[in-house]
This record gives sequence, C-alpha cells and structure tokens, in this order.
Amino acid sequence: MQYISTRGQVPAVSFSTAVAEGLAPDGGLYLPKELPDLRPYLIDWSKLEFASLCEAFFGIFATDIDPIELKNVVARSYTKFDHSDIAPIVRLSENLFVLELFHGPTLAFKDFALQLLGNFYEAQITRKNSPIAVLGATSGDTGAAAIHGLLGKEGVTTFILYPEGRISPLQERQMACTGADNVFPLSIKGSFDDAQTAMKTVFEDLKFASEIGLSAVNSINLARILAQCVYYISAFFRLSEDEREDITFVVPTGNFGNVLAGWLVQRMGVPIKGFRVATNQNDILHRLFETGIYELEEVAPSVAPSMDIQVASNFERFIYYAEDSDADKVREIIQTFKMTGKYVFEYLDRSGFSSTRTDDDEISRIIKEVYLKYGYIADPHTACGFAPVLNPSKHSQFSDKEIVLATAHPAKFPDTIDSAIGQKSTHHSLEVLKSREIVKYSVEPTPEAIKAFMRKHVSQV
Ligand SMILES: *Cc1c(COP(=O)(O)O)cnc(C)c1O
Repeated sequence: MQYISTRGQVPAVSFSTAVAEGLAPDGGLYLPKELPDLRPYLIDWSKLEFASLCEAFFGIFATDIDPIELKNVVARSYTKFDHSDIAPIVRLSENLFVLELFHGPTLAFKDFALQLLGNFYEAQITRKNSPIAVLGATSGDTGAAAIHGLLGKEGVTTFILYPEGRISPLQERQMACTGADNVFPLSIKGSFDDAQTAMKTVFEDLKFASEIGLSAVNSINLARILAQCVYYISAFFRLSEDEREDITFVVPTGNFGNVLAGWLVQRMGVPIKGFRVATNQNDILHRLFETGIYELEEVAPSVAPSMDIQVASNFERFIYYAEDSDADKVREIIQTFKMTGKYVFEYLDRSGFSSTRTDDDEISRIIKEVYLKYGYIADPHTACGFAPVLNPSKHSQFSDKEIVLATAHPAKFPDTIDSAIGQKSTHHSLEVLKSREIVKYSVEPTPEAIKAFMRKHVSQV
C-alpha cells in the first residue's frame, strides 16, 4: 500500500517511509492512497485477541514490512500492559460503557501508539544499521509515553522538551525517573509553544537532521493513528453481537488524533454509528462541529492539560476526506487558517458527529457525579466524555449505546480527583516513582542550544 500527503505535492511513499518521516516533506500528513474495505476480514477478526488483531490490521497497511518482522514488532508492543484484555471494556449501565485505554506503562492511551512506534523504530535501526535521535516536545503525556516506548532500545537516544513547572509532578517523574542513560528530559523556561517552536526549527536544519539521524514522535505520525484504530475494532467485538448496533464512541480530544482513528475505522466499513467529540474549555473542535467555523483562540490551561490544544493538527486528515481528496483545497484551507486564524467551511459534512465542551468547574462536578452514580472514577480528560450527566434534560442521555474512551488513569491527576470526591486515586507504578531520583536537564529554548545539547549526548552505537 502507498501513502500520499494531504497537501499533494510529493510522490506517494511506502509505509516505512511514511512512518520514518512522520511529516511529509510538503508539510502535509500521510494517509493511505486508498482506504481498504475491512468488511471481508471482520468475521475472522472478531475472534482475535488484541495483539493478533493489531498484527492482522497492520498486515493490510505495512505491506513493505516483512510479515515476520511485523509479527515481532507487534508482539513486543503490548507486553507491558497491566490488563490481560489490553483495552478492557467496563459496563456502567445498560447502554453505557467505558473503554479503558490506560493500562499501558504510562497510564494514558498514548502508550498504544508509542509502544508500537518504539518497536517500529528499533526494527528500522536494525534493518538500516544506523542509529537515530528522537526529538519531541510535550505538554505531559506524549513525552512520557514516547520515553517509555523507546526505553532501552538499542541505537535510539531520546530528547523530550517540556515547559518547566507546567506539567504535573507525576508526568515529570514518568520522564525523569527512568534511570535510562539514553533518555534526556529537557526542561525549558517557557511555554509548550516555545518548546514546540524551537523543536520545529531544529527539524528544519536538514544538515543537522541527517547528521544526527533525527526522527520525530509527534502526534501526526501515521503509525500512531493506525495503532489507535485497533482498539476501536477490538471494542466493537467485545460487545455481544446484538449489542454492536448503534454504537457511539465518545472521545475526549485535543488534537483530533484519537477520534480520527475511530472515524477512519468507520470509513473502512466497521458499522459504528457515530462519534461524540468531547473537548475541555479549549473548544475549537466543539465550535467547529456546532457552527462549521474553525477559529483559533488563546489556549487556556485547564485541569485536563493533555487536551489544552487549539490547533488540532490531525484535523487536516479529516479535511482531506471532507474535501473529497482535493489536496489543492486542503492547502488553501490550511493557508487561510494560518494567515487569519479562521476558516469558514461553506459545506462540511458533519454527519455522524456531535460534540460537547466542558470547563474546569464542570469537570469536577462530572467526576463527582459519575462516581456517585456509577461508582466509577474518571480522570479529568475522561470526565469530559461524561458531559451529559450534568444536563440529562438537554442531551438525550445515553439513549444509544455509548462507549466513553477513558484516556488516562485517574491516579495521574490525584489532586483534581481528591478535590472532586475527597479521595486520593493511586497506582503502584506511580508510587514507585516517588522515591526515585529525578534526572533532568535544563536548556535554553533556542534551536542552537538544543542542537548543541543533542550533539554532545547522542549515543554512538
Ligand atoms: C493526548 C491526550 C488526549 C487528547 O488526544 P488527541 O489525540 O489529541 O485527541 C486526551 N486525553 C489524554 C489523557 C491524553 O493524554
């Protein structure tokens, strides 16, 4: 299978190239040239456990990877999850389910993609016999998940930039207490945007990039989206046959990455009824789905920090399909949005989508309500998915079958949980970290300082 860019200005590439490059050279995002029809496979797939399902799914997309290599990559990727179902479903009521995506090593859904991506990188290093340096910027969960996906991989040195004091203490410990000598958490004085801007400039230095074997782990990597497709399919099959009709997935979202994966699964023929996009107070996507206007606002820090995003980078993939694969139109939309911070869609097919917005105060009330009503503790991100509990009259509450994606374990956000329900949520993997030494480095948020640090510390294999 071949992969094309949403901006249509570069030739199609193989799966491995799309994964190794992350972003396409024209600034676009990679997508399969044609989406396959999954319906012929579904009966066979319904019987598979998670890792086998993942292998079968990637077999359709990763056509330039040797099947044995693929099998090994996938088999290694879900061994560090602490639940035998990998992505278990919990039933809260007749029509309401939670899909728990927080059983990986860093207790957030990003482990699904980054454990796998780490193993794809490792296989690539072995195949090409050249080391790589991974650089990323994080507002919390991505950095931790990336570090744990790449931990101990031969030939990889990992550098993650994060804003000092702006991520939670536990998120920092997940990055800075690994004890690994190929991992460098880089704290900067500034915001997440400063970190990201500096990082982008480093990537633009092509000479440096090739010298050091630079790779990215950002949320636009195609392998991440495909890895996330798998749990939608597995969730579908975990329900009994007569329950599979009329399922709506409720997805707490920031970058549109998670919900995009589910929507692709639907486009590929899995009969999902629809999606409810759940934002926090940074509600660019909620406003879009309500009005058809995509308009930038300031990021307002919230108690669900991993969704504190305004420019939803994966949204470009949705636009590509919404505009009937017209790459010229995609470029025009992105250009207009970049210049004016706004794009008004004349027509945008939003069928199958609904959305909600939840501010900090509501998040607390939802955590309490969900706990009282169902005895379930939702983390602040997941809580946004339960917005209708506050407004039973406004929403036809959970009238269809709804599966809320639980994107993080509540123990990652103990203070918010405590103030909502008067209880501390804990997890043994986080408790262990509290007694470990923090090893982090501080760098200036300039491309020069970052490049100098990387040159000095990159491991020679
Ligand atoms: C990253 C993250 C999200 C948002 O995911 P997107 O792919 O950006 O939509 C939601 N919840 C948690 C806990 C996250 O870490």
